[in-house]
Amino acid sequence: MHFDDIIIGGGLSGLVCGLRLQRAGRRCALVSTGQNAMHFSSGSFGLLGRLPDGTPVEEPLKAIPSLPQEHPYSKIGQLRMKEYMHAVKPLFSSCGVQLCGEEEKNSYMLSPTGTVRTAWLALSDVSLYGSMDFRPGEKALIVNLKGYLDFNTRFIAEGLEKKGMKCRIEAVELPEMERLRSNPSEMRSVNIARVMDKPDVVSSFAAAVQSRLEDEDTVVLPSVFGLGSGASIVSLRETIPANIIFVGTMPPSVPGIRSQLLLKKAFEAAGGTYLGGDKVTGAKMSEGHVESIFTENLGNTVRLEADNYILASGSFFSRGLWATPEKVLEPVFGLDVCSAPSRMDWYEKDFFATQEYIGFGVETDKSFHPSISGRTIDNLYASGSVIGGCNTLRLSCGAGVAIMTAFAVSDYITGK
Ligand SMILES: Cc1cc2nc3c(=O)[nH]c(=O)nc-3n(C[C@H](O)[C@H](O)[C@H](O)COP(=O)(O)OP(=O)(O)OC[C@H]3O[C@@H](n4cnc5c(N)ncnc54)[C@H](O)[C@@H]3O)c2cc1C
Repeated sequence: MHFDDIIIGGGLSGLVCGLRLQRAGRRCALVSTGQNAMHFSSGSFGLLGRLPDGTPVEEPLKAIPSLPQEHPYSKIGQLRMKEYMHAVKPLFSSCGVQLCGEEEKNSYMLSPTGTVRTAWLALSDVSLYGSMDFRPGEKALIVNLKGYLDFNTRFIAEGLEKKGMKCRIEAVELPEMERLRSNPSEMRSVNIARVMDKPDVVSSFAAAVQSRLEDEDTVVLPSVFGLGSGASIVSLRETIPANIIFVGTMPPSVPGIRSQLLLKKAFEAAGGTYLGGDKVTGAKMSEGHVESIFTENLGNTVRLEADNYILASGSFFSRGLWATPEKVLEPVFGLDVCSAPSRMDWYEKDFFATQEYIGFGVETDKSFHPSISGRTIDNLYASGSVIGGCNTLRLSCGAGVAIMTAFAVSDYITGK
């Protein structure tokens, strides 16, 4: 089977890259093993929250010249970064994913543990604020579902009380949740969201919240609404007479899953071929060129061939990178990887420190071509968190790197 482009990995980076290529008139296939980081995300995108020395960043674009050469944004350059930053909201909106936030300025949000977190853009169910000292209102009613343990109401109350708000916590019991509640392991975000996708259940929930509302101006709810679409979120905001804030829960992430599904749907609607539940196991190479790739389901007899291949297989979490006791490796092509030579330098003993290995990944040239034993592979590109050279946790730039490199790679391929 021959395609113009084959993308390996269906996370944020692979989907954005595939979507742009497909919409540019190319014929793409995307092979993806399974879950990705979006299924566990906060619903917000970090572009650049801190510099390598820890200095907080308020305006990411202005801070790009301060990044080291090997950071993907330095390779893309400030001018193109600006163009891409402004193209993200329209692209996502065209897939039904509405984003909020300012393109050139970082915002702040309430984290699931009640602390303040920096964000660039966020799914529109997340409330973003312009200053770190934001206070959503005077009094908050924090509402959970009875028996749901993955929403830390006490932490959130503590966080808001530190901001001078008065908080009250309530739990709503709905008959529609009884089947889930009878087995605590079933009372998880995605299962709840499936029940909440029914308009009559959301209406009952909204009525229950309203009946508990006293003089609060703000209602804080867990992000367990809108798995299929954002309709229930809109309906809650329209019905409950208060400022509604949705706060992330423990994984899986309902807003993250919704976005992934909508991006995948848009890729397929544009004519892309999505080979889900399959895994690329290896490649046939010749003279610094990928000839074809093999997958677990298609076996060695059916070859997938393309003009270009995009490796968007993620970092350690998604098995895009592997670590053995001796070395870090990229398992599909055996690409050159930047990492510290001694295992002792891979990590800090302090559990809460930012770990060095997060910055490990595939080495690329300025156009995101990786290499094998120093030889550049001319028809292979790397995109997203499989790329090394930036510690996405330390710099708070995970989603940004995934999206910006996807834009850059798709532009290189289309010759833009
Ligand atoms: C748990 C977690 C939560 C995060 N939350 C946030 C957040 O809230 N905000 C933020 O800004 N950043 C966050 N990040 C950073 C994150 O890296 C990026 O946001 C981004 O989503 C990464 O996208 P990606 O497409 O590069 O990789 P991934 O999302 O990891 O996707 C890679 C995909 O490739 C597939 N794959 C791997 N190997 C193969 C193969 N051989 N064949 C076929 N498919 C393969 C995997 O199954 C997976 O679906 C988070 C990271 C993790 C690990």
